[in-house]
Amino acid sequence: MKRIYLDYAATTPMRPNVSVAMLPYFREKFGNPSSLYFYGQEAKEAINVAREKVASVINAHPSEIVFTSGGTESDNFAISGVAWANNKKGKHIITTSIEHHAVLNICKFLKKVGFKVTYLPVDNQGLVSLENIKKAIRKDTILISIMHANNEVGTIEPIEKIGEVAKEKGVYFHTDAVQTFGHIPIDVTKLNVDLLSASAHKLYGPKGVGALYIRKGIKIVPFLYGGAQENKLRASTENVAGIVGFGVAAELAKKEMEKDILSLIPLRDKLIKGILKKIKYTRLNGHPTKRLPGNVNVSIEFIEGESILLQLDARSICASSGSACTSSISEPSHVLYAMGVPPEVAHGSLRFTLGRDNTVEDVDYVIEVLPGIVKKLRSISPLCQKK
Ligand SMILES: *Cc1c(COP(=O)(O)O)cnc(C)c1O
Repeated sequence: MKRIYLDYAATTPMRPNVSVAMLPYFREKFGNPSSLYFYGQEAKEAINVAREKVASVINAHPSEIVFTSGGTESDNFAISGVAWANNKKGKHIITTSIEHHAVLNICKFLKKVGFKVTYLPVDNQGLVSLENIKKAIRKDTILISIMHANNEVGTIEPIEKIGEVAKEKGVYFHTDAVQTFGHIPIDVTKLNVDLLSASAHKLYGPKGVGALYIRKGIKIVPFLYGGAQENKLRASTENVAGIVGFGVAAELAKKEMEKDILSLIPLRDKLIKGILKKIKYTRLNGHPTKRLPGNVNVSIEFIEGESILLQLDARSICASSGSACTSSISEPSHVLYAMGVPPEVAHGSLRFTLGRDNTVEDVDYVIEVLPGIVKKLRSISPLCQKK
């Protein structure tokens, strides 16, 4: 039976055009971009073409794009690079309690070595408040890092307004845009963003390659030390094939963004409505409208998200019970916790993230099989004796 993939926030399959564009760079065009002869220059030129394509998605200048090994490195590089370059000015960083672990854990490390970190709360829909941001900014604040959209609940943060506040106060602003780059419109100039993280495998490109946008003039030190690649900001021989694939994925994402958004939103809303209507004691997590076009996150009370996932898998449906990184440990998601979802309700949370290949039939199939799975699990659930 055909499998229905509904976990596009975890990773996406490469588009055929992406893998076709990458292939020559594994063999015929294998050169090291730092080499001065033909093969090297050929590879270097391919990187420059990709850099233009990636920059164009967010209205950046190509010279402001540094290729990295992925979203995690981009987040680590942005935060640690700005922290170490500006620690004479201050040691205070502001972030939120719903960031990806790639942001949370580098902040945790920096705190250990003497930086100060403020974790802003969010409301019950996952939104940070501008007032709280303004209140948190101090004389020694050097960086605000707030994600563009949350990977678990899909809430889109008021990035433009946050950027205005940061600019007004003279504080650098980084945003983790891994879930939004190539998915919803981004203009770094309009949004007043100084640093922005992206990852190719979240937009139908290859795994293991990402980018950090660094606005011209930002004070930052490298995260990796070695050769002079990437304008001396990111040592190591470039992942040429990966970068080429990222470029093609970015170009196609930009071209088809509007169309993709228009086809995803009705599927998303149909799935949300279907689940909430057909299954009692369910609730939507995240914001109803300030929400990623493909994100559905619901809590199904009295049962465990993991048990539902296994039953869905048996019916050929791939979904997630929170973020991919937490799905192996049975701890409720830090995002739902921060949003004030009671732990017993958070345990029953389920994330479906839709993508380009999904159809209305996929959504109908989930709405058809999920109620039966829930009914069966609830009938044997110790949490459900009274219901
Ligand atoms: C996937 C993801 C990352 C990590 O990206 P990798 O390329 O897998 O390292 C970081 N932030 C968010 C919001 C993500 O969804």
